[in-house]
Amino acid sequence: MNRRRFMQSAVSAAIAASLPANRSLGAILSGSGGVNADVNAITGDGAEVTLQRAAVKELGDALRGNLLLPGHEAYEEARRVLNPSIDRHPALIVQPKGIADVKDAVDFARESNLLVAVKCGGHSPSGKSTCDGGMMIDLSLLRSTRVDPGRRIANVSGGSWLGDMDHDTMKFGLVTTAGTVSHTGVGGLTLGGGFGRLARRFGLAVDNVLGVELVTADGRFVRAYPDENPDLYWGVRGGGGNFGVATNFKFRLHPMQREVFGGDIGFPMSEARRMLRFYAEFSTQAPDELYLDGGLVSIPGGFSGVYMHACYSGDKRNAEKVIAPLRAAGTPLFDTIGPMDYVAMQRSGDISDPRARGTYMKSGFTAEISSGMIDAIVDGWQEHPDRGMYVIWQHAGGAINRIAADATAFAHRYVTHDTLFLMDWAVDIDPAPHIKWLREYFATVEPFTSGFYTNDVMESSQTMVNRNYQGNYERLVELKNRYDPTNLFRLNANITPTA
Ligand SMILES: Cc1cc2nc3c(=O)[nH]c(=O)nc-3n(C[C@H](O)[C@H](O)[C@H](O)COP(=O)(O)OP(=O)(O)OC[C@H]3O[C@@H](n4cnc5c(N)ncnc54)[C@H](O)[C@@H]3O)c2cc1C
Repeated sequence: MNRRRFMQSAVSAAIAASLPANRSLGAILSGSGGVNADVNAITGDGAEVTLQRAAVKELGDALRGNLLLPGHEAYEEARRVLNPSIDRHPALIVQPKGIADVKDAVDFARESNLLVAVKCGGHSPSGKSTCDGGMMIDLSLLRSTRVDPGRRIANVSGGSWLGDMDHDTMKFGLVTTAGTVSHTGVGGLTLGGGFGRLARRFGLAVDNVLGVELVTADGRFVRAYPDENPDLYWGVRGGGGNFGVATNFKFRLHPMQREVFGGDIGFPMSEARRMLRFYAEFSTQAPDELYLDGGLVSIPGGFSGVYMHACYSGDKRNAEKVIAPLRAAGTPLFDTIGPMDYVAMQRSGDISDPRARGTYMKSGFTAEISSGMIDAIVDGWQEHPDRGMYVIWQHAGGAINRIAADATAFAHRYVTHDTLFLMDWAVDIDPAPHIKWLREYFATVEPFTSGFYTNDVMESSQTMVNRNYQGNYERLVELKNRYDPTNLFRLNANITPTA
């Protein structure tokens, strides 16, 4: 538990301790004396709406979890998302403690026609998990992992973080694919795809989903499994948060040793072009057990050069041999690759102070890292003391490519790498010129990409989003028409209903 979350739960615990046993924590958390006044809010279409005090109070009283209104300390914490550039104020925040609370929140939002945001880990770069004037459904109290080692499955609650899941499954010598930062939400990552250090071996997170349970826009609890609502089971594996609030994910687990072989290696910027060419070839031919991110990095006051991050999760007797060509490819400036605990590696990219730096990113999927792409990256690279720059290929391919494009809603089965252009800056500078520069730089590389990862996208038109679902789009629209015809869940890579 990090410091922020600890403080939040400590506040709740202190308040709970002072309550008579029969008082609702939700009502108290909505302000001293409960809900004091009508609440001004925004509908999904952006119209203003007034929520009657009595109705809001009724919602708070019905919850086992919390209802947070502006002015409360816990509200300030809950409304935030990872990206500090996003500063939105929902009219109300519901923190469900169970499915019943999720149903109450969804029913209230639908009946009041509210704009709805669903937050799990809060990592959406564009801040899709928060909103101004609507209802945020903050799933932070729904965090648990139940491992069934015999059947090699894990049931993971819809508000869990990746680190929760890795920690609990690895205890049994079992894993499933998760992303590379442990405080990312299982909810957002999985529903949109889910790349990570094990995806080349075991497929994307969605490829390991055996079923999802969710509360749909009409307030129903629906099971999406291969034999129960199979269309929805198909759609939630890549269709994002379009179909409801996922309360539980059932994952397939795989046996894996705890110790992997990996770490970081850096080469001088003077070797950029040659090393990126090496990376393109080496990563494309790598065994599925080797995950290798690579690219260019410039950290103000820190390392600037070619950076690669490796995780070899196969038989440890082969590890040195698999990594050897990488070590021999150039003159490493540093090399931390060696035996490492998998769960520790999964935490190694965590952000200790997310409030300190603003972020911006552009990205696109790549089926081949061509010489032209490498030239565009190296020729356009410009360092600046005010910005951190990371042009990184996240390694894909392997098992991801062996699944048909229409087997799940995630269509981009050709992806060998996700090309990420990331930038960060100290929050006290004006990022506008840097963002402009990054956009122009990425525009020179974008022609070498094909489609994009909806989970990474910060800005895109509805037409681009529609097109990005590729051949699966029509089927997704049919599902959206069936499960969310009024587009209650619209803050996502939205599939606009046509019904
Ligand atoms: C630092 C960082 C590292 C990342 N690393 C990776 C990586 O290694 N691999 C990778 O694939 N992606 C990665 N991503 C992208 C990541 O997949 C997306 O940001 C994803 O949206 C994060 O999920 P979340 O639950 O934290 O986000 P949130 O912001 O909480 O949610 C994003 C959206 O997901 C939906 N959602 C979330 N939970 C639920 C739920 N339970 N039910 C219904 N809808 C829900 C909502 O529509 C919401 O708007 C990374 C992002 C960041 C910022």
